[in-house]
Amino acid sequence: MDMKAKSAGLEGLNFDNSYARLPERWYQRREPMPLKGAHLASFNPQVAAMLGLDPCELDPRELVPFLNGDQPIPGADPLAMKYTGHQFGFYNPDLGDGRGLLLGEVVNPAGERLDIHLKGAGRTAFSRFGDGRAVLRSSIREYLAGEAMAGLGIPTTRALCLIASEQFTQRNGMEPCALLARVTPCHIRFGHFEYFYYTRQYDELKVLADYSIERYYPDCAKADNPYLALYLEVQERTAELVALWQCYGFVHGVLNTDNMSILGETFDYGPYTFLDQYIPDFVSNKNDHESRYAFEKQPEIVLWNLSAFAQALVPLVPQQELEQALTTFMGRYRYYEQKRMRARLGLQQEESGDAELIAGLKKLAAEQRLDMTRFFYRLSELGDGDDAGLTDLMALSPEPSALADWVEAYRQRLAREVASAPIRQAQMKAVNPRYILRNYMAEEVIRAAHAGDYRPLNDLLPLLRDPGSIHPNLDHYAQQPPDWAGAICLTCSS
Ligand code: AMP
Ligand code: MG
Repeated sequence: MDMKAKSAGLEGLNFDNSYARLPERWYQRREPMPLKGAHLASFNPQVAAMLGLDPCELDPRELVPFLNGDQPIPGADPLAMKYTGHQFGFYNPDLGDGRGLLLGEVVNPAGERLDIHLKGAGRTAFSRFGDGRAVLRSSIREYLAGEAMAGLGIPTTRALCLIASEQFTQRNGMEPCALLARVTPCHIRFGHFEYFYYTRQYDELKVLADYSIERYYPDCAKADNPYLALYLEVQERTAELVALWQCYGFVHGVLNTDNMSILGETFDYGPYTFLDQYIPDFVSNKNDHESRYAFEKQPEIVLWNLSAFAQALVPLVPQQELEQALTTFMGRYRYYEQKRMRARLGLQQEESGDAELIAGLKKLAAEQRLDMTRFFYRLSELGDGDDAGLTDLMALSPEPSALADWVEAYRQRLAREVASAPIRQAQMKAVNPRYILRNYMAEEVIRAAHAGDYRPLNDLLPLLRDPGSIHPNLDHYAQQPPDWAGAICLTCSS
């Protein structure tokens, strides 16, 4: 077979399952348990193309029997991974893929290696009291979030397709089950390292670190201490990731160490929120009673998670070197945060007062609970001496006079920029989307899907993938959210 050719189906993909060649104790081999009445709800041609599938030749419905476990996928070697991790600050030794299976690794025509993971595939050795299933509601939310993040340019897992079913399980009442085929190069979590560390399997820990370096960070192999270099790479990517979350008002909701990818991608979407209003202490997950994962705490929580990851590397790296590395995290986080905020404000040159200008905006935004997505979009439309644009911007504020001083300082600062207004506007539009995935949008799509209508879901995807362009048929999503949006209640239930 020509390995470079695109394939019309999963059965033609080039699988090479390196994780399945690691020691058997690291996972449980398992086949997916079919769902009743499985049917395609959505197919993602962009992710299909990433895998080397030919979206023009492929009939996406033919994916269903393979992903539903009715038919084995030639070359796949499905397994449930063992990992552990800290949940809400406490170590849980009993985690692992309780409802997900790594189906296998695809080497695409460009030679890139991508995992296909099936979420909701039935019970495994790590299911504990769970049913091994994912419901349609949470699967839709994860699918949408992956596309939204990709559209914003924020590192994320994505999905090849969403499969709905006629099988029900107990969550918020009885809910339909679904399957999500998640695609990403990396399913290794901080918790994989914690598992070997806390079970004192230090030889295995080294094998895992070597595997991670070889597969994700090959340059680290050349460093004096490759494992310290690995830690630093993970920290760097994670610092940039959380900075982007903060810039776009993303609240993850369950920032446990088992939900942290060593590739620095947003991973394992649960009760997340993109803020409708800038509320620093916003908690997205109603089960998070101590507000551990509040929006403004995410950078320090991510640092806490990195220190848990660093702890797991202590058998491989002198502790003081890891401690020293950890002290640099906040600086790296701030660097990436300021960089993106300056871009969102259209500030190309760096000036000493920029940090203060940004801090001033965040303070105002919090006081006035501003909708920052709409605020930045209108800011990107502002021309020099544009009074109508200014009126539009001020209209977003419940107390425009309080905003006036900041706007004046901002305009003075802009006057020192070299770029002309049209160029600045174009640059700002590239980082200031017209739309963002708000919870109420996901909710509307879920309600329709529960009624058997997947059109709203599929119609929303192009908007999420390209949130900077105007989508005329869905342009109401650029407006203020409806009143009921604030009442949406999200929990860990998924
Ligand atoms: P999550 O909250 O999705 O990040 O999952 C945390 C842990 O619980 C992981 O080990 C999951 O595999 C497991 N888990 C979550 N939901 C289920 C379920 N319905 N059945 C079995 N295991 C589950
Ligand atoms: Mg998880």
